[in-house]
Amino acid sequence: MLRLTLQLRLSRGLLSRGLRTRSRGPFDDKDGKWAEFKKKLQVVWPGGSWEPFSNTSHLPPEHADVVIVGGGVIGWSVAYWLKRLEARKNAIRVLVVERDPTYSKASTVLSIGGIRQQFSIPQSVQLSLFSVEFLRNINEYLAVPDEPPLDIQFCPSGYLMLASEGNASEMECNVKMQRQTGAKVCLLSPEQLKNKFPWINTEDVVLASYGLENEGWFDPWCLLQGLRRKALSMGVYHSYGEVTELVSSVRPMVTSRGEQVNIKRIYEVHVKMNNSLEYQPVECAIVVNAAGAWSGQLAELAGIGIGPPGTLQGTRLPVEPRKRYVYVWHCPQGPGLEAPLIIDISGVYFRREGLGGYYLGGCSPMEEDEPKTQDLEVDHDFFQKKIWPHLTHRVPAFNSLKVRSAWAGYYDFNTFDQNGVVGPHPLVSNMYFATGFSGHGLQHAPGVGRAVAEILLNGEFSTIDLNVFSFNRFYQEEKVFEDYII
Ligand SMILES: Cc1cc2nc3c(=O)[nH]c(=O)nc-3n(C[C@H](O)[C@H](O)[C@H](O)COP(=O)(O)OP(=O)(O)OC[C@H]3O[C@@H](n4cnc5c(N)ncnc54)[C@H](O)[C@@H]3O)c2cc1C
Repeated sequence: MLRLTLQLRLSRGLLSRGLRTRSRGPFDDKDGKWAEFKKKLQVVWPGGSWEPFSNTSHLPPEHADVVIVGGGVIGWSVAYWLKRLEARKNAIRVLVVERDPTYSKASTVLSIGGIRQQFSIPQSVQLSLFSVEFLRNINEYLAVPDEPPLDIQFCPSGYLMLASEGNASEMECNVKMQRQTGAKVCLLSPEQLKNKFPWINTEDVVLASYGLENEGWFDPWCLLQGLRRKALSMGVYHSYGEVTELVSSVRPMVTSRGEQVNIKRIYEVHVKMNNSLEYQPVECAIVVNAAGAWSGQLAELAGIGIGPPGTLQGTRLPVEPRKRYVYVWHCPQGPGLEAPLIIDISGVYFRREGLGGYYLGGCSPMEEDEPKTQDLEVDHDFFQKKIWPHLTHRVPAFNSLKVRSAWAGYYDFNTFDQNGVVGPHPLVSNMYFATGFSGHGLQHAPGVGRAVAEILLNGEFSTIDLNVFSFNRFYQEEKVFEDYII
């Protein structure tokens, strides 16, 4: 059906604008025959940077059923699941467009690789449970013949969340829900906490929750590369360039509330190739917005949020970059191998990094202290003023720590309720979202990719129901607030 729709769209598009052709030449060259032929020609027709035809192998295909914008962990997960769940081999053509081949600003590779079961929304717990199963069996999911197995470097370690008087009852409710959903989490009184982790100052702690299994951290690069490698081996196309324009057809309509709206359908994506002023048009049936911290900007390209405030047309995708620092410190007197990933009452978090007395950690700033996002410079004063005092209060041994390095990355921050956005847009009916996870998108990528593939291929979620994360909640002002954002 998807294919049929696309075919119709393609023929209409090509006819209306005259037949546009682009020589792609024999450059896929999977069997090396083109390289061999070129070598022979160069012998009879020598020259420096000799190239008889222009090489177009780096260009995206002229059409794709699904164009995924953003080649981070979420984009590649959607691509992988689409190929895995498609009804028959090569039924759909999937293209992933990524503007930065080095991933220098992508959240995926700047994250700290954590996975936990302790969330306040049942769907997030379900996603985490699935992710752990996926990571445990990663070489069954992502094996590629003749390629080495993936080493995800999973480091099992519970998350330890600390609660004060103010949020202890909330913690109790959350733990109840987490257990009902299948997670193994226990509650600890201050005394039990002190017995288990004697190096923690429990003075102002009223309750703690501790993950007994399926929590820890892993190598984000490995997951990204594993998904990418597998998806490519299954026939996914990819292209390095920036999506700069989404061309759509418009059909005006009046809603049941009497609101005049424009129903849009994107039929062409413009990909500006790296190191070039030109763009390549790609005709498409579906666009997946997996542009991470920049997905709000991509949504605007489709006209989302451009309209009178308070209307569906004027409701924007509230996802934007928020800069977060991660500091790495050395402290041989610190808690050592026993340290779980601690989320303090203050919001400061830390965990062990390796085995040599190193730790890493950070903290989200208050809304009014949000740093500017034009670059990824690290503010070292932030550690001195906002993090270190809380660290030494909780773990007195950290008084003697020495900061050794630091980096910054962007959260794909959903300013509305700090939770993911999954599924189609109500007006731009062929743009699907997979974004906005605000600091927990890495761990949920396997389940989110599967959910988006399900809804694209079958029109509904068949494993984990993620309707709660639909775009409509922004318009209806129904928050799905996540309590545990660090
Ligand atoms: C410091 C830090 C710590 C974190 N720790 C954790 C953690 O412990 N656990 C966890 O689960 N999550 C964590 N996260 C969050 C997690 O990294 C993100 O939620 C997740 O990586 C989002 O994946 P993504 O693929 O959507 O985004 P990205 O990895 O950012 O990928 C999006 C890609 O889209 C590309 N793009 C954007 N616009 C365009 C365009 N117009 N055209 C083409 N390409 C485009 C970008 O170049 C980018 O590569 C952390 C994040 C940070 C910054």
